[in-house]
Amino acid sequence: MSALLAKRLWGAAVIAAYVRGQRRASFLPRAELEALRDRRIRWMVRYAAKHVPYWREAFARTGVDPDTIRGAEELDRLPILDKELVRTKPELFVADTAAARRGLSFLTSGSTGTPISIRHDRRSLLANIAFGEREREVVNRACGGSFRPKELYVSYQTSTFKKVEAFYAENALLPVQPLRRFVSLLEPVEKVAAIANEERPDLLVGYGGWLDLFFKTVHARGLPLHRPKLVMYMGEALARDGRELIEKTYGIPVMSRYNAVESFKIGFFCDLRTGFHVHEDLCHVRVVDAEGRTAAPGETGAVVISNLINRASVLLNYPIGDVASLSDEPCACGRTFRLLSELEGRLEDTIRFPNGSFVHPRAIWEVFKRDPEVLQYRLIQRETRRFTVELATVDEASFSHALERARPDLERLLGPGAVLEAIRHEVLHRRQGEKFRAVVSLRPAATGSGEGSAATTAVAGPAAAGFSGRVRSTSTP
Ligand SMILES: [Zn+2]
Repeated sequence: MSALLAKRLWGAAVIAAYVRGQRRASFLPRAELEALRDRRIRWMVRYAAKHVPYWREAFARTGVDPDTIRGAEELDRLPILDKELVRTKPELFVADTAAARRGLSFLTSGSTGTPISIRHDRRSLLANIAFGEREREVVNRACGGSFRPKELYVSYQTSTFKKVEAFYAENALLPVQPLRRFVSLLEPVEKVAAIANEERPDLLVGYGGWLDLFFKTVHARGLPLHRPKLVMYMGEALARDGRELIEKTYGIPVMSRYNAVESFKIGFFCDLRTGFHVHEDLCHVRVVDAEGRTAAPGETGAVVISNLINRASVLLNYPIGDVASLSDEPCACGRTFRLLSELEGRLEDTIRFPNGSFVHPRAIWEVFKRDPEVLQYRLIQRETRRFTVELATVDEASFSHALERARPDLERLLGPGAVLEAIRHEVLHRRQGEKFRAVVSLRPAATGSGEGSAATTAVAGPAAAGFSGRVRSTSTP
């Protein structure tokens, strides 16, 4: 038997071992689900204390006996990880086991600059295919029950994506290959619409920001568009007005998945589309307030995750950098996995001023959301009180109109003395491999414990009085 075949058979066996029961996993009675989650937490904490340098040292230093961590409740009492430490010293979090050594490293998308290297063991990568059954079932049903919906996937083929695909191609006999056509995110809207009209996909997948721009542009220019049965956004938030356009005007339901390089499975939408059902048995999710305490249900705060599956980079109590809230209301679909709200932007996108006041990205969104002539916006903080606002508008004339409308609100938010430069673009591009950021602040906010939910109050900008800024407008093709 060839080595390749042996590898594939092993891969298939691992997937088969995990695939049983996946479809009903999200319907497990709470007691059973919590018992499973706590069992995995106990296992991972002991593994970490024994094999992972950071955790070995942390348990020794604090005198906490790992055996006293019986489940989520005790895990939540441990300190929240310093994300900067994971970024600068990723090797401290990698287990000294063979499973970790044989694993594969991936880089986070690094919207704040330096990406983080996260290693995944091979078994967990394969198991991830089996866990995907939970999510695929919902999507297939939304696509009219098709076993293999036709996908149009607009993206960069990121290095992570390519690496995962190559790994699966080499290590598994995949039962079902997706019918997927990739289109580069850099293609003009007209071309993507033409491809959609030709391919007639069941499912359109893209970044939240891209989908927002795509549908607004198609709508504003009156382009003909084949309506897929489902739109799926990934990687970043989808603006509410963008979603409304897709759902109400185009009549296409919108779903999403919450995943990250740090944890390939965090949450997924069910048919009712009320938020992300958290894969609680794979990734323990907590939302914390500014003091690092567990936020009340419905209260917005920083998302903290513990990956319960990956045995290479062991991340427990890791502040992933997103802002959201957890609900304690059960979902009418019958799934018992808790619901996490949709993400409200990244912590690092909050603009902070030396006097402690700040502007949340949602406040900037409020300024532009109802302006039909603004297809995209980006606000960049250049210096403490110097900003560039970039707008993609329907045409040249609409740029100056939109700017006039937005100006009073921006002046109010950014405070007295702020200098604002405005530039028109046809399209706002992101840098390769990065998430699109509508607000780019000067200094990324610290992401350790306690910093998170400072971003949760919508706006605490300086008062409106006495704005003495100037607005300079530039238009670039
Ligand atoms: Zn549900």
